[in-house]
Amino acid sequence: MDPNRGNDPNKSQKPDGNQPRNNYFTPLMIALALVLVFSWVMNMVESSQYTQTTYSDFLEAKAAGQLAEVEFQTDRVVYMTKEEAAKPPSQQKACYTGLPDGGDWAAMSEELAAQGVTVNEKIVEDNSFIMMILSYVIMIGGLFFVMNLLTKRMGGDGMMGGFGKSKAKVYMEKQTGVTFKDVAGQDEAKESLQEIIDFLHNPQKYTAIGAKLPKGALLVGSPGTGKTLLAKAVAGEADVPFFSISGSDFVEMFVGMGASRVRDLFQQAAKVAPCIIFIDEIDAVGRSRDNRFGSNSEQEQTLNQLLSEIDGFESSKGIVCLAATNRPEILDKALLRPGRFDRRIIVDRPNLQGRLDTLKVHTRKIRLSEDVDLRKIAQATAGAVGADLANLVNEAALRAVRHGRQAVNQEDLMVSFETVIAGTEKKNTVLTDMEKRLVAYHEVGHALVAALEKHAQPVSKITIVPHTSGALGYTMQMPEEEKFLNTADELRTELRTLVGGRAAEQVVFGVQTTGAANDIHRATALARNMVTQYGMSEKFGLMSTASVQNQYLDGQAYMDCAQSTAAEVDSEVKKILETAYEDAKRILRENRGLLDEISEFLLVKETITGDELMAYIQADQKKLESSAQESEEAKPEE
Ligand code: ADP
Ligand code: ZN
Repeated sequence: MDPNRGNDPNKSQKPDGNQPRNNYFTPLMIALALVLVFSWVMNMVESSQYTQTTYSDFLEAKAAGQLAEVEFQTDRVVYMTKEEAAKPPSQQKACYTGLPDGGDWAAMSEELAAQGVTVNEKIVEDNSFIMMILSYVIMIGGLFFVMNLLTKRMGGDGMMGGFGKSKAKVYMEKQTGVTFKDVAGQDEAKESLQEIIDFLHNPQKYTAIGAKLPKGALLVGSPGTGKTLLAKAVAGEADVPFFSISGSDFVEMFVGMGASRVRDLFQQAAKVAPCIIFIDEIDAVGRSRDNRFGSNSEQEQTLNQLLSEIDGFESSKGIVCLAATNRPEILDKALLRPGRFDRRIIVDRPNLQGRLDTLKVHTRKIRLSEDVDLRKIAQATAGAVGADLANLVNEAALRAVRHGRQAVNQEDLMVSFETVIAGTEKKNTVLTDMEKRLVAYHEVGHALVAALEKHAQPVSKITIVPHTSGALGYTMQMPEEEKFLNTADELRTELRTLVGGRAAEQVVFGVQTTGAANDIHRATALARNMVTQYGMSEKFGLMSTASVQNQYLDGQAYMDCAQSTAAEVDSEVKKILETAYEDAKRILRENRGLLDEISEFLLVKETITGDELMAYIQADQKKLESSAQESEEAKPEE
């Protein structure tokens, strides 16, 4: 079967998979041929069991009295000689010969019977011809049915054609039922999309002036920020059908199949225009055709088809193509040319208000108890995207059900927040007492360094309950308000907080554990950013030595400086980390009493709140003040 079938221009003109196809000819012919071959083979088998003789041979055998058994059939007589009948049954071979017309067969059978020959009654099969025709028809019909079923299963049009035919997973929704009300925040994006909605509502208004509307818009943002949701909402607001397909569905093994899918998609869309076509993950097909990212001819062909389809449809028809990606930088420039996806709509991670709104949207249908404070949750979830928040709310609802409650309370939300962030609490990880002590001191080390610094974010919770994510404990810091800028001092404080865990291990036990790996990783990344991007090191000052490549995915930065400079960057990073580590150790040594006290308390309680932590610190400061006063009062008396 020809893998290039999808390329055949005639082929693609055939009706799509949703319509009845009328190509019955091929299966019918094949069924017929099969039946003919079958009957021929049957004939061969049958005749090999008999030896054909002449009628006079039969008469001779009869005259010689050699017949053992005779059977008169419609058109022939089958007989067996005594010689054959004496053989074992498997080797017996009967003879047959034609019957001349008009013979008196009744008389002959009587004569034979008198000779002692076994005569089988003549089977009169008047309708045998009709039966034969009928059986053939039934056979052909049955085969035809089965074959048609098989080709349908293969999803193709008619026999075998299905192999190269579009199986594209095009999802068409007549009405998405999603409106802008379901999309929280993202006001800028909504504003840009408003025009498209207006256009779909009322294309004449634009065409009358002669304005050409953009055929496509590119939604750019991190995964889970609501790009699909926004596209659906556009369709919902405009009340038009919504076609969606993922870019990866176009990527096929055989050259040309992706292109035929693109063609199919646009053909289907044209039938129901006005409508929205949404292509998710367009980077799967739309990546740049230069070979840097390893493109191939199938992908190129698909992309070319996509480009020509986009150029091909008249925007006055009312088809708007929306595409989503989180890697706009790898897209082919041709896709972004004016008249194609020239509008770029940024779908950002939500800010505090956006998160609060998202939580509100997702809790609309959920019964909340009175103690729920969504703002607190929104504050705690800086950096989370819409999908995370939707997940969080659902987890909370599930937890409420598990606990047999009628409504979701604040605790459910907080716990599921931790589930989403740190994995579910893992109660059965058994730590030895020593491990537990280490974890407790480690976490208090973080918390104490943070709490004693004025630039640090307040600690809201410390726990040594292990989580499935692998964290044996963690310290949660919650910013009081959202921050978009960080000063160098704040970043240095963050560094000290990050290495505070390791510092506590070192100061108290003189050991280093593997538990600090994640802290070290984060601290190093932060210090590196300070040197390479933020211009916060003495050595490099304002010089940038790295640039961010894919901002919307991992935000990974790549060094773009000489190798010798990169080595110097490393030593600068090391210096910053060492300073932070020394500072953290100093802070903990100076507050050793407090460190012990809080760690012991944490060991007993396993989880302590930020307020409890602050109470310890304040009590300690009061103690210090009063002892300072005492010593001052004592002085004059000396
Ligand atoms: P993307 O396409 O950007 O990866 P989706 O649109 O598939 O993300 O979002 C996944 C889910 O996250 C949505 O179905 C929705 O429940 C939730 N979500 C994301 N962003 C928002 C938002 N701004 N408002 C409400 N829900 C959102
Ligand atoms: Zn740590």
